[in-house]
Amino acid sequence: MQKLRVLILGGSAEASALARALAGDGRFAPVLSLAGRTKSPVLPPIPCRIGGFGAVEGLVRWLGEHGADALVCATHPFAVQMRRHAVEAARQSGVPLLLIDRPAWVASTADRWMSVPDMAAAARALGEAPRRVLLTIGQKDLAAFVAAPQHAYVVRSIDPPAAESVPPRAEVISARPPFTAAEERGVLATRGIEVLVTKNSGGNDAKLVAARALGIPVIMVERPPAPDVANTAVATDAAGALAWLEARHATVSRLLRV
Ligand code: NAP
Repeated sequence: MQKLRVLILGGSAEASALARALAGDGRFAPVLSLAGRTKSPVLPPIPCRIGGFGAVEGLVRWLGEHGADALVCATHPFAVQMRRHAVEAARQSGVPLLLIDRPAWVASTADRWMSVPDMAAAARALGEAPRRVLLTIGQKDLAAFVAAPQHAYVVRSIDPPAAESVPPRAEVISARPPFTAAEERGVLATRGIEVLVTKNSGGNDAKLVAARALGIPVIMVERPPAPDVANTAVATDAAGALAWLEARHATVSRLLRV
């Protein structure tokens, strides 16, 4: 058969791992799509496109114009709008969809977590008394902390955030994950961090391991409500997505032979 044309909606470690796994595999013709939020993304060795599609209609159009045989939504667990669009575009276009849904982190008895539903609640949970806070929440959700200027913030993101979104006097660290637990421990200890604020992204938990080792409390922003995926195939990692794509390739090849 001809190659299975696969669109991967990326922006996560799993999307990059899947793209690398498909590179050079003669059964697949993959394209990785990125939103374009990171200035210098590390691109895998497959064709890439960058920028929004123009909502559900734009994604449906792209799938049709490129004759896509499969769609893999491997966006970050907090990128819920793109996930909703993928589910709806698959429904409208009939293109089979697989969602990569990385398991959320779960606190152990040794952790000191406070779970909150959103960034505004995380800023409130820091309390009135000034604290030294590490924010590892990306760039787009910093504004909530501008409303709690009594704290001394260290902000870590891949690209430096827009100046107006950064709380006053914050120190900005631009660094690209992944980080090891030893590196995370270094950041927490050398900057005298008293509390860590993070999203419950799941995946590499090095910062949580470091916080646990140092007895540092964590304010954990839990995931926003996920789209209804009752009729959608779901994998928890790139290996699961690859297995799904291999099964689709085998099915389509068999159908073309009969
Ligand atoms: P979002 O709120 O779910 O999506 C906003 C819009 O960005 C979408 O409607 C879509 O525009 C465009 N978009 C998102 N992902 C895209 C992709 N892979 N390819 C093409 N267009 C995409 O997403 P977000 O939270 O802003 O995140 C943007 C990107 O950063 C995602 O790819 C995500 O995987 C990655 N990321 C997000 C977080 C996070 O915490 N939110 C963390 C790490 C990485 P159109 O409607 O025009 O198609």
